[in-house]
Amino acid sequence: MANSSHDPVDPSSLGDMDPEEFRAMAHRVVDWIADYLADVDRFPVAARVSPGAIRRQLPASPPEHPEPMEHILADFERTILPGLTHWNHPGFMGYFGITGSGPGILGEMLAAALNVNAMLWMTSPSATELEEVALGWLRQLIGLPSDFFGTINDTASSSTLYALAAAREALGSLRIRQLGLPGRADLPRLRVYASEEVHSSVDKAAIVLGVGQEGLRKIPTDHAFRLDPAALSRAIAEDRERGWLPFAVVAVVGTTSTTSVDPVPDIADICQDEKLWLHVDAAYGGSAAIVPELRWALDGCDRADSIVVNPHKWLFTPIDCSVLYTRHPETLRAAFSVVPEYLRSTEGDAVRNLMDYGVSLGRRFRALKLWFVLRYFGRDGLIARLREHVQLAQELARWVDEASDFERLAPVPFSTVNLRYRPRQAGTGADAGTEEWLDRINARLEAAVNATGRAFISHTRIRGRYALHVAIGNLRTTREHVRRLWDLLRELGPAVVAEAS
Ligand code: PLP
Repeated sequence: MANSSHDPVDPSSLGDMDPEEFRAMAHRVVDWIADYLADVDRFPVAARVSPGAIRRQLPASPPEHPEPMEHILADFERTILPGLTHWNHPGFMGYFGITGSGPGILGEMLAAALNVNAMLWMTSPSATELEEVALGWLRQLIGLPSDFFGTINDTASSSTLYALAAAREALGSLRIRQLGLPGRADLPRLRVYASEEVHSSVDKAAIVLGVGQEGLRKIPTDHAFRLDPAALSRAIAEDRERGWLPFAVVAVVGTTSTTSVDPVPDIADICQDEKLWLHVDAAYGGSAAIVPELRWALDGCDRADSIVVNPHKWLFTPIDCSVLYTRHPETLRAAFSVVPEYLRSTEGDAVRNLMDYGVSLGRRFRALKLWFVLRYFGRDGLIARLREHVQLAQELARWVDEASDFERLAPVPFSTVNLRYRPRQAGTGADAGTEEWLDRINARLEAAVNATGRAFISHTRIRGRYALHVAIGNLRTTREHVRRLWDLLRELGPAVVAEAS
């Protein structure tokens, strides 16, 4: 007999988990989450496991029979948790610090419970309309004009891919969407431009779009790691002369390594003169523009054709949530819209069907968590929190500048500091004190800090030098945590040198 509730130990039962069992388990999970968030600090930030250690503890074959949720949750704690790196730990300051905030988590929980698919307006009108409203709010918060239309994607990598697909589509007469690229003698090679500091997602977009990595020309940067507009103009002129077809420029507001900000107004002038699509990657830096004194970060972006901002980076929204804005929604739609019969709906131009603006058909209800975050913190609350992160980074930068054994390797426009240990007493090894030695020492220092489990940092290379990359972006990070990291760096630096000698 069909059963409306699932008996956890009866293999013949049908249907989903019993609502009362769900209630009890959900309470337990929520209690677990609340305890976790209240006290993430008790875990080592980075997982302390060797490759394969987690997999080996898990059965290689799927369960033949139902298992009680109790056991599953117990295994989550016993086996899975030790293999996690805690991005929500206040000591997490690698890559870009992110936050699964309380309101964001609640929005994510409800989105999972509802499990709606926001592919068409009619498949959940609220999901589409809330996406429009929340992205209208975010647009106002960061000061973009009202003619920017937004959609939510999983990641900035997808958003940038879609933006450059729209840029390619804007070369309408070439009919690339219809005819493709291969084997076409009538088609010049396409070129997109970005600085040498640009994120690898632009390389990937070039690969996917058939432009190829050679079709992405990287332009040199100035002393502050910003794209050099004169070099961009020269490159475009040279390419045109050699028969390339320039079609887009990617400017960055907050580059991955140094968080430098390209001179968007100058780049916009060039794009206007050359009739090129201007895409701005503000995946990290875009959120800064909510803060009045950092509004300059998006100067000139009102003239961009498209811009990506990631609330899942520095806007306290659980991963994933990346927003692509464009002033040319019809071009983006022309690049992607394919509507088979079963997806036809009757509302016509009265609605937007968000499946038309990217590759994915199925779309998660990501707007809900963003809406929760924007409402819960409000403009004032967001400003205060972003400002605090910038102040913490400025303070760390000051400590670095004042220390005789450390040096800062880049300016700090936002909340990220790049530094390295440069001891005055360089040890006794044959190459002590050389650049190669400094690279090695700093790589070891990074590993030593991370091995403590009390803080987590990452690294990058800046003008060839190994740099320790400290990005403050988690809501739970306080001055005490930044100070702890600084103490660790100073304490472990000499130990690392002594070991290397
Ligand atoms: N753009 C910049 C400047 C980034 O730093 C990153 C990742 O750190 C990305 C794009 C890619 O972001 P996502 O992980 O959302 O694809």
